[in-house]
Amino acid sequence: MVKFVALLSLLLVAAGCGKKPAARFAALSEEFVYTTLSYSPSGATAAGLHKYQDRSLDGMLDDLSPSSIARQRSFYMGFRERLERLKPDELSAEDRADRQILEDQVSLALLEFDEIRNYMHNPATYVETLGNALFTPYVLEYAPKSERANHIISRLKMVPLFLDQARSNITSAPAVWANVAMDENQGNIDMVEKTIRIWVPEDRREAYSRAAQPALMAMRQFQDYLKGNLAPRNDYNWRLGGKSYPKKFRYSLESGIEADSALLMAETELKQVRERMLALSLPLHKQMFPGHPEHTDLAGEARENQVVGEVLARIAERHSTRESYMDDARQDLAEARAFVESKHLLTLPRRANLQVIPTPEFMRGVYSVGGFNAAPALEPQLGAFYWVTPIAPDWPKERADSKLREYNFYKLKLLTIHEAMPGHYVQMEVANDVQPPVRRLLRSVFGNGPYIEGWAEFATRTMIEQGFLDHSPELALTFAKEELRVLANTILDVRLHMLDMSDQEALDLMEQRTFQEREEAVEKLQRAKLSSCQLPMYFLGWRGWSQVRNDYRQAKGESVSMSGFNDRALKEGAVPLPVLGGLLK
Ligand SMILES: [Zn+2]
Repeated sequence: MVKFVALLSLLLVAAGCGKKPAARFAALSEEFVYTTLSYSPSGATAAGLHKYQDRSLDGMLDDLSPSSIARQRSFYMGFRERLERLKPDELSAEDRADRQILEDQVSLALLEFDEIRNYMHNPATYVETLGNALFTPYVLEYAPKSERANHIISRLKMVPLFLDQARSNITSAPAVWANVAMDENQGNIDMVEKTIRIWVPEDRREAYSRAAQPALMAMRQFQDYLKGNLAPRNDYNWRLGGKSYPKKFRYSLESGIEADSALLMAETELKQVRERMLALSLPLHKQMFPGHPEHTDLAGEARENQVVGEVLARIAERHSTRESYMDDARQDLAEARAFVESKHLLTLPRRANLQVIPTPEFMRGVYSVGGFNAAPALEPQLGAFYWVTPIAPDWPKERADSKLREYNFYKLKLLTIHEAMPGHYVQMEVANDVQPPVRRLLRSVFGNGPYIEGWAEFATRTMIEQGFLDHSPELALTFAKEELRVLANTILDVRLHMLDMSDQEALDLMEQRTFQEREEAVEKLQRAKLSSCQLPMYFLGWRGWSQVRNDYRQAKGESVSMSGFNDRALKEGAVPLPVLGGLLK
């Protein structure tokens, strides 16, 4: 890491004098990535940046004092000016792509500081930052265990100050945000008290206990504050609103599509997917329920709901058991990998660092189904994890069965394809080879959400189109249900945050038009209120990927192989999709 620091100061000097645009841009880009990561030591550890200007970031917590916030804001303001002085047409295509990312990130940061000000209203952001700061050195093996324990101890010592800053910044918070913050804060308390405590090596135990005690006290006081002091100040609206939402949508999704157009497209497509599902279901319905007439007494959406609903319910009966669930996911991974190879969908990553493991227990609230954790951009050799959340042995049979029906034989395969093979794992592994490292870091730390989620959806669709699982219509129907969910996510996000959609309208959309269960719908509604401009990533992403692929084929001719396109597009890392289109020209 020392090398980076030396390089940085060298480039900063170069930036001042009349160097060539490419050199000036490289210096700016580098300065941006390292400076913003230094503002967030918790994020820096996860990205593999451990030191910055002689300070060990691993032992620090994010500074959210008013003076630090003012310093950050003025950094972004100054940076914008300097970036504007470098005109896009002076730069190479790759640098122009990075310039676009920088410009959008600056706009997004300033939108937060000047207009949205989440830090004044969302206690969960503090709790999550703290959780990640403590969790990352525990789980990521970037240094010997005792050294990482020291980093956690050092961060624990700063917890009282950090939570003080939270309390003085927050002026009001909607109940839904405060409640989630309480759950997550309790999770952090358990993590410090139990999970990490027993993991800490013998010779660091005493130091750990000494640091943990005041930290835990501060965390418990914060819990009381959320429950007591903050609870009456709940008049802040969780809806982002028609003024800020379209801007955040533009800068964070970078899809070239505005919020209102995205809504229109999703609503139109929802009808089409439902019609396609009916067509897929009718032959299956005939086989599965030979005694039923084809429900021709019903019409329109009512008939779609009846026929498709019955077929989906029957499909869900084929599922793992509680005991076989994890192993089935591992087998699905091997099956998917073999298929990718046999169809030459893409070149598989050269590092064999993927591990399938049960989701760590205290993360199961957030990752209730599973998830993917990439190796850090600056330390690609470290492990990449496909987390599968097992079905707890203490769950009653009914609850376990319900989850097994939802994550049935087909859905579990789709999950593995999306999260790991050839979804997130393959994409992020290839992205971890982007050169130079500062470009890799920029495109990873500020990786474009629609590129990432869109790839996983696009890759799943490609697997199905190529006949994975012997062209199974059950799998195709299960994926179509997934598509409906992706469309519903977009509609929910835009309508809830910009158009005052009510809870009931949201639940009706999910339960009556996209085949979602009650419990799932209630959970999704909560998630939609916690975040904004995240749920539309999937839809905008697979739409964007399909477009880039079609344009590429048109430009290069039909002879372009599937792996030719996939390898080329993945090599760029997670750039905005319109930018990707430009780079592939
Ligand atoms: Zn995903």
